[in-house]
Amino acid sequence: MNSSESTGSIPRWNKVYRHGDLDDWKYPGPALAVLGHPISHSLSPVIHNAALARMGQRFEGWRYFAFEVPVSELAEALPLFHEKGFVGLNLTIPHKVEALTLATSVDPLAQRMGAVNTLIRGDAGFSGRNTDGYGLQEALKQDLKVELAGATVIILGAGGAARAAVVQCLEAGCRKVWVGNRSADRLSELVNVVGGENTSLATFPLSNPPQDLPENSVLINATSLGLKEGDSSPISLSSFPGSLKVYDMIYSPPETALLMEARNRGMHTANGLSMLVHQACQSLAFWTGAAVPVEAMFQACA
Ligand code: NDP
Repeated sequence: MNSSESTGSIPRWNKVYRHGDLDDWKYPGPALAVLGHPISHSLSPVIHNAALARMGQRFEGWRYFAFEVPVSELAEALPLFHEKGFVGLNLTIPHKVEALTLATSVDPLAQRMGAVNTLIRGDAGFSGRNTDGYGLQEALKQDLKVELAGATVIILGAGGAARAAVVQCLEAGCRKVWVGNRSADRLSELVNVVGGENTSLATFPLSNPPQDLPENSVLINATSLGLKEGDSSPISLSSFPGSLKVYDMIYSPPETALLMEARNRGMHTANGLSMLVHQACQSLAFWTGAAVPVEAMFQACA
């Protein structure tokens, strides 16, 4: 879709737009959007519009759109979204970190995570929050019956998603949080940023996983290894107890090599779809101030 194609027509939620299309933006109701690059694969419009459709007359005209915004264009795009009256925005790869400096304010949790995935309209611009940690916590509860308070958690990765996971685990009172990553530099950077002094946090090399884990520990894949067809697993599960629960933030493909190995070992597993839905649910609650029907979101992407 380009600017000329949008001329004269009311925007449709099931198309991908570019921020140039905002010059001629004709959507008459309250608009929300996800910004990313690439974005065409995103399930967010489907999930959010399904929930809005169930939220009653007050939200009848609300729509959620997808915009392809390359990294170099975010700074100039955000003021345009504000000018056009967008109520809120979600940010996905590669915008979550840069948005920290572009938001008018950032709430303390998102600040600690070093990433923003939700922008909320204010008078002068958008303020930033992060709902990924909440999404993960709810997903673990729902899919694996894991309560973070008191839990032992092993997190793989040290990028934005891993940071959000580590901060959420520490905030929620995990007993122990182990983090392992391929690159040692990025791992120590994560520890310095999110909790260098915290005695509940420990690191390990992926080739030497922690031993003597308590029953029902949970392992979370927050690396991007598994996204591509034929990707291997970031870690071998051979030294983990059979009671280990395994959550992969990746939901496409629905079963990564890691999840397949876990399933073959009889471990309890789940993929990242539930995290995606729960983070979306909290974002929509922030924008609307209303109760969000999370089951409508799950049905929409089933
Ligand atoms: P980043 O690019 O910030 O981080 C990528 C991480 O993956 C790094 O730790 C990197 O390690 C590691 N990695 C990449 N390739 C390999 C490899 N070949 N072997 C071992 N480790 C590797 O990405 P994000 O943190 O933003 O996202 C991580 C994953 O989480 C993605 O798959 C994303 O789709 C998913 N995600 C899912 C969400 C959901 O709602 N379900 C929400 C957010 C993210 P290194 O430092 O060594 O490069």
